[in-house]
Amino acid sequence: MNRRRWLQMMGAGAAALSVERRSQAQERAAQATRGMAAPKIKDITVIATQPAGSRLTVVKITTDQDGLYGYGCATFTQRAELVNAAIEKYLRPLLLGKPTDRIEDTWQMCYDSSYWKNGPVLNNAISGIDEALWDIKGRQAGMPVYDLWGGKCREAARMFSNASGATPKDVVENVRQSMTRGYKHVRVSAGNAPAAAGLHEGAVFERGPALRRMLQVFEACRKELGFDIELMHDMHERYGPREAIQFVKDCEQFKLYFLEDPLSPEDLAYFRQIRQQCATPIAMGELFNSPHEWMPLITERLIDYIRVHVSQAGGVTPCRKMALLAEQFGVKTAWHGPGDVSPVGHTAQLHMDLSSYNFGIQEGGIITGVQAEIFKGCATFKDGYLWASSAPGWGIEVDEKLAAKYPFGSGDGARGSLNGGWGDLRLPDGTVIKQ
Ligand SMILES: [Mg+2]
Repeated sequence: MNRRRWLQMMGAGAAALSVERRSQAQERAAQATRGMAAPKIKDITVIATQPAGSRLTVVKITTDQDGLYGYGCATFTQRAELVNAAIEKYLRPLLLGKPTDRIEDTWQMCYDSSYWKNGPVLNNAISGIDEALWDIKGRQAGMPVYDLWGGKCREAARMFSNASGATPKDVVENVRQSMTRGYKHVRVSAGNAPAAAGLHEGAVFERGPALRRMLQVFEACRKELGFDIELMHDMHERYGPREAIQFVKDCEQFKLYFLEDPLSPEDLAYFRQIRQQCATPIAMGELFNSPHEWMPLITERLIDYIRVHVSQAGGVTPCRKMALLAEQFGVKTAWHGPGDVSPVGHTAQLHMDLSSYNFGIQEGGIITGVQAEIFKGCATFKDGYLWASSAPGWGIEVDEKLAAKYPFGSGDGARGSLNGGWGDLRLPDGTVIKQ
């Protein structure tokens, strides 16, 4: 062997050794940083169940790794069947085989894939996917999701309860009942007015009398209960701008925790007038679907609590960004949490409450009865606070066989003919108004 040939052989050997070393190093790095291969989405199914009156839609994502799956809330009770179709017909084929670990990327892909976006049906469908992926991420890490978001900055989330009644005296009594259960925040309402005569057969709502009854309720509550109990009220977007502004000003003397939804999303520009004229704290946002709606109210400091319905905005990924934005402008979170939210959705909101510095108050999430049997591992309530499970992910396991015993339509009651949707609400003269 001549010298030249020998050098060639040595060089080739060194190169092969170098490639092998590099490959081993990459493998070690992959093991150190990933721990396990990225799971792929194997299937996406919809759990559609109605165990307690509301049509609940929960998405389940299963992965190619045995026993690794997650749940997310996609509940839009008034148009539930459409959300199920959006998931099964559009998002499922888009996502099968994709990795579960790229949550931001997946959210943006789902959001952009319809070209036209920011509607409640598609946003709820995306929310189901988004929250299920966060559940999977937590289960992989062996951590509750709030730990993936930086950990708790409070032990539990304080809640508000609701109190209503036929008379102001009844409302006061019901607030007292809430206080005995540990609540320090109560949202009060005047109950239904005696049925007014209308020029139609449907439900009648009269704006002026409703507002005057509420002022009587606040007056009675402050006289009988003092100012230590925090009071709120939901105006439910039913009023015109002028009467809403007047009422918010009239409430200033009662020093509320917040006044909710004084105007409809169509009248957002009037929030500036409210802000200029009184100091009553304002909560707003449960009907919002789009950043175009919440951005101006937050950045112009026109509200005090952002009350977006998390699944209507597309899930926890966009809502965590909203919470961070709101923190910079002194706005707190009070995510919308009625029975229109599934137990998975309530839990996802609770995880945001625990890890967001600017959390204000939690609505709902005490899961009882057959719902608690279907959704195992939900939060526990004690002395006005909601306490999260520390199990991985959302900490919830769904009994799908039991859920299947309560299919859509089994608990609609009077709303059965509308597939769980709402009917109409009208003034005495027959004019349709917002619900
Ligand atoms: Mg409301």
